[in-house]
Amino acid sequence: MRLILLGPPGAGKGTQAARLVEKYGIPQLSTGDMLRAAVKAGSPVGLQAKAVMDAGGLVSDEIVVGIISDRIAEADAKNGFILDGFPRTVAQAQALDELLARKHMELDAIIELKVDENALMSRIENRARETVAAGGTVRADDNPEAFKVRLDAYRVQTAPVSAYYASKGTLKVVDGMAAIDAVTKAIDAILG
Ligand code: ADP
Repeated sequence: MRLILLGPPGAGKGTQAARLVEKYGIPQLSTGDMLRAAVKAGSPVGLQAKAVMDAGGLVSDEIVVGIISDRIAEADAKNGFILDGFPRTVAQAQALDELLARKHMELDAIIELKVDENALMSRIENRARETVAAGGTVRADDNPEAFKVRLDAYRVQTAPVSAYYASKGTLKVVDGMAAIDAVTKAIDAILG
C-alpha cells in the first residue's frame, strides 16, 4: 500500500498516518520529521534547512526529493509507505512520479484532508499547549508568525499539488473537519 496524505498544516495528517501505520504495517514517511531529525543531528541537510523551517518556509525541492528517494529505498518501505508532508510542490510531485516510474512502483491512493482554514490556527495553538502540558518542547515553527507563513506556503505552493492529482483523476478528498474517528473511517472506506 503506497499512500499520500495531503492537507494544510494542522489538518491531522500525522494523526491519521499513525493509525494507518498500525493498520497496514507500513512506515509513515514524514519529510517534516526527517528534516527535524536532520536539524537535531546537525547534519549538512539540517544546517541548510533550519532557518527556512523555523520561519515557516519550504526547504528546497532538491533536498526533500533526495531525502525521500533514499528513504523509500530502505527495507521497511518495501511493502509500502505513507507519505506525509511530501510532495509539497508540483515539482516534488513530478519528481515523485519519475522516481516511482523508475522503480516500477505505483501509488494506491492520494487522499486530501480538507479543512476550514479558520480552524487551523486554533488546532496549532492547542497542539502547542498540549505539548507544553506534557512537558515537551514546542516546535520552533508552531507560533503564529511562522504558522502564517506555513499557511501561505500551503496556499501558493502546495494547494496546486491537489490540483495536479485531481487532474490525473487520482485524488480522493476526505472531510478533515469531522471527528478523528470519522476521518479514519472515511479513509478506510477509500482504501477498501
Ligand atoms: P506541518 O505541520 O506544517 O505539516 P511538517 O512537519 O510537515 O509541518 O513540516 C515542517 C517544515 O518542514 C515545513 O514548514 C518546511 O519548512 C519543511 N518541509 C517539510 N516537508 C517539506 C517538503 N516536502 N518540501 C519542502 N519543505 C518541507
